[in-house]
Amino acid sequence: MQILECGALAKIHWLAHGFTLRPGGASVLDGQRVFNLGRTDWDTRENVLANRKTLLAALSAKKMEIVSQRQFHSALARVFDAPPEEPLKGDAALTRAPGLLLAVLTADCVPILLVDTKRRAVAAVHAGWRGTLKRVAEKTLGKMRMTFGSRPRDVLAVLGPAIGRCCYRVGPEVAQAFNSQFAQAKDWFDGPFDRIVADDTPNPLQWLNMHPPGHQPPPPFVYLDLLAANRWQLVNAGLPARSIFASDLCTACRKDILFSHRAEFGKTGRLMGVIGIRLSAKKEPR
Ligand SMILES: [Zn+2]
Repeated sequence: MQILECGALAKIHWLAHGFTLRPGGASVLDGQRVFNLGRTDWDTRENVLANRKTLLAALSAKKMEIVSQRQFHSALARVFDAPPEEPLKGDAALTRAPGLLLAVLTADCVPILLVDTKRRAVAAVHAGWRGTLKRVAEKTLGKMRMTFGSRPRDVLAVLGPAIGRCCYRVGPEVAQAFNSQFAQAKDWFDGPFDRIVADDTPNPLQWLNMHPPGHQPPPPFVYLDLLAANRWQLVNAGLPARSIFASDLCTACRKDILFSHRAEFGKTGRLMGVIGIRLSAKKEPR
């Protein structure tokens, strides 16, 4: 199996990290073997567990324990000292405990990995449009500062494969929601952003533009750059731009090697982004 790594993080000897890709694995989707890491209705628990085991072996981290949460598009960030008995609800996880491999499951949303290279702390963040709107990345970095005393200049961030600006078509309500939260929102959208936003403000002359019934124009849509929005949040929270790395693979363009909920109409698998502190600085034997 193949795992996507970030060169800057791969140099840190006490760190395990990576983003999984689609090909290979124990799961079968539409006649192809795929590396599905999350629970889906078409796959079995046994296959997913076998794939997770393969992932640990590939990372030379067989003794580490994967901590994944029940993600619900929130900005809830939890600190883990030990693996939870039952999976908890949350969209960001933080730890300083060696042996825990914090995981984010995605199929279009942005997986974000953070590492404080000085204090040896890590975090994994799940950021779809709702989480991005709720500033989950910014809040997780804030929690690292509060909990571990992390300084932004010691933190590196990696944004894994996600749906790109090329493919992420969203409705006017998303543009309006971002516009109400971020002064920079315009930079993250392609399409008639200004018109959509203007339509949102009450206009006493609105009736002048009204179309006769049955002749409504199609609702306008725009394309959202989730990566840019999250990159901005991290910079805004104090991270130097040079400390932020991002994959340029779009899940929807590259469903041959990734999973895309959007491009595959929901019938797809889950990619996993993981980060953790190794039990011993020396890599375990494979
Ligand atoms: Zn694309």
